[in-house]
Amino acid sequence: MKFDLHSHTYYSDGVLSPAELVTRAVTNKVDVLAITDHDTVLGLAEAQQTIVSQQLPIQLIAGVEISTSWHEFEIHIVGLGIDPADDLFQRRLATQQQRRIERAQEMARRLTKHQVPDCFEQVLALAHGGAITRTHFARHLVNIGKANSLSGVFKHYLARGKAGYVPNNWIELAEAVQWIHDAGGVAVLAHPLKYKLNGKWLTRLMKEFSEAGGDAAEVASPQQTPVQKREIWRLCQQFELVASVGSDFHQPTDWNELGRGLYMTDDIVPLWQAYPDLVDAAVSAIEPVLN
Ligand code: AMP
Ligand code: MN
Ligand code: MN
Ligand code: MN
Repeated sequence: MKFDLHSHTYYSDGVLSPAELVTRAVTNKVDVLAITDHDTVLGLAEAQQTIVSQQLPIQLIAGVEISTSWHEFEIHIVGLGIDPADDLFQRRLATQQQRRIERAQEMARRLTKHQVPDCFEQVLALAHGGAITRTHFARHLVNIGKANSLSGVFKHYLARGKAGYVPNNWIELAEAVQWIHDAGGVAVLAHPLKYKLNGKWLTRLMKEFSEAGGDAAEVASPQQTPVQKREIWRLCQQFELVASVGSDFHQPTDWNELGRGLYMTDDIVPLWQAYPDLVDAAVSAIEPVLN
C-alpha cells in the first residue's frame, strides 16, 4: 500500500482542484491520500465526490494543516482523520482564516510601498475562496514580473525581515493539537526539518509536541535523505511518536510528486499501523458533495 498523507488543493496553496489531485494520486499509484490544506477542509467533499462517482481505487483521509506559533517559530501541524463537518472545528478554522485575511491585507499595504500596486483583490482571487497564503502573493508577484520564481519572491519580499513580511498571530502549537483531537483526529508534526532548527531546538520541538499530546511526526518527505529519516525517527522513538509520510505536494514540479520518495525502513512504526481506524474509517468519514 502506498500512503501520501500530506497534500494541497487550490483551496489553499496547491494548484490542482480536488478532482485533479485525487486523479493524479491514482495515476501515481497512491492507495491512501490525505488532503491537508492550510487551515481549511474545503476541498475534501469535492475530492470524495470524484472518488465515489468515478469509482477511483483510492481512499481519502480527511486532513488539514494548521499553522501555529511556537517560541517565535511558525510550526505546521497536520491533522488526520478529523471530522470535517464538526461545528466547533469549523468555527476554529474560521478564526485562522480571518487571521489570514487580515495578514494578507497588511501584506498588500506594505508591498505598495515597494512598487507593487495594491494587489489584495487579485491575490484573493487566486485563492479560490479558500485559504489565502503567502504562496498566492508569490504567484502574483511572478505573474506581474517582480521575480522569476516563487522561491525568488519569498527570498526578496516575503521572508521574515523583507518588505512584504507580516508577523503572524497563529494559535499556539498545543492549541492546534487540542483542536485536532477534539475533532477526532491524529496530530502530526509536519516536515520537522523545514523549520531550519538546530539540534537543540529540534529536540525541544519534538519533546514539547509530544508533551502537548502530539501523536506522530513526518519521517518521510521527498527531499529527505535516509540519514535525515533516521534522525527524525530516532527523535520519534525518544518522545513516543509514530511516523507519518507525506509529499506536501502543491503543484507538479521536477522535484515533487504525489506518492513519490516516501520510503521507510521496516523498523519504523507507521501511523497506519498505530491507528488502523484512520484508514478503515476514511471512506465513511467524508460526505461527498451531493449533486
Ligand atoms: P503561509 O501559510 O501563508 O505563511 O504560507 C506558507 C506557505 O508558503 C508554505 O506552506 C509553503 O507552501 C510556501 N513557502 C514557504 N516558504 C517558501 C519558499 N521559500 N519557496 C516557496 N514556497 C514557500
Ligand atoms: Mn503550502
Ligand atoms: Mn507546511
Ligand atoms: Mn503542506
